[in-house]
Amino acid sequence: MKRYLALFLLLALLTGCGSVSPEKAHESIQVIAMDTPMLLTAYGETATKAVYAAEDVIRELDAQLSRTNPESDVSRLNAAGGQEIQVGKALQILLGMGLDCAAATDGAFDITMAPIISAWGFTEDSFRVPDPSELETLLESIHDPGMTLVTARDCVQITEGYSVDLGGIAKGYAADRVAEVFEENGVECATAQLGGNVLAWGSRPDGDPWRIGLQDPNRPDNPEGFAGVLALSNAFAVTSGDYQRFFEQDGKRYHHIIDPATGYPADSGLRSVTVAASCEDVGGTFDLPGAMCDAFSTALFVMGEEKALAFRDEWNAAPSNTPFDLILITEDGRVVVTGDLDFTLDEESGYVLETVS
Ligand code: AMP
Ligand code: MG
Repeated sequence: MKRYLALFLLLALLTGCGSVSPEKAHESIQVIAMDTPMLLTAYGETATKAVYAAEDVIRELDAQLSRTNPESDVSRLNAAGGQEIQVGKALQILLGMGLDCAAATDGAFDITMAPIISAWGFTEDSFRVPDPSELETLLESIHDPGMTLVTARDCVQITEGYSVDLGGIAKGYAADRVAEVFEENGVECATAQLGGNVLAWGSRPDGDPWRIGLQDPNRPDNPEGFAGVLALSNAFAVTSGDYQRFFEQDGKRYHHIIDPATGYPADSGLRSVTVAASCEDVGGTFDLPGAMCDAFSTALFVMGEEKALAFRDEWNAAPSNTPFDLILITEDGRVVVTGDLDFTLDEESGYVLETVS
């Protein structure tokens, strides 16, 4: 069963804006792209221009990065039979980041998981449970050791028999590009919700932080079934969860975040991982914080609570890294919140809140 979680991170952005003056008029558009419903909202005189420019950027990225569109750069690369091909900047950047993230997360994030993701039917919505022997074989065609980037000539190459899937990072990168569009258009208050990737640009027109409802994984069909609300300004917040895309067979649930070590949906004790980082922390090791949050939300879901928290400590300790915070929802009913995140638990959700410095 496919789940589009249009509202699993509902931005409570249209409430409490009674003080918005006419020159702060807002524009809000919905876009279906990257297999996901998206919502772009901006305030101010350039709001309309900015949201439509952002839509153009997202559509262009979709055309370049889709795995199901045979014309996309990603499809051409996957069909290139090991030959070097010329591609657009987006794929060059994301292949580079994909390699960096695989190295940083000890392989928990891996953009060469495409054959295994397809075997589970998540690419074409034709869900099935692969045989263990099939997965064994497919595990040999991930972790491409021969991926090369020749950026001077805009060329990239992967080893024959390997293929890439950017589903775990493309929307976060799109959120970075939307932030750029808001910046270029002088927009001060805006939000973009690209599936589980939320950009809270600036703050609300009344000066308060944006309020992001964090979906309760136990109530995925209720768009207002929140585990709690995160107050955030000028930041990205990206959530990966086992409820976002899954199917059921013989009474067992299979979700779309795959552990590269086993080829099976990650069984790490987590229900969701939210990674939040400031829009301002650009220029570090990863100068694309939206893409970083997206890749790490997927990777840290695979790692599980203990490794995810240790990874954050180690990552944030290096001054050149863009720091991030976490909200983990665990299978045993806890919501673990790190750092100074302003998170308010929904008392009726039944979760127990734990904070970690
Ligand atoms: P996200 O919702 O960002 O966690 O991304 C999940 C998507 O990323 C899946 O639908 C796959 O396309 C892809 N994916 C699944 N597992 C992994 C993984 N371990 N590393 C990288 N991408 C993955
Ligand atoms: Mg991700």
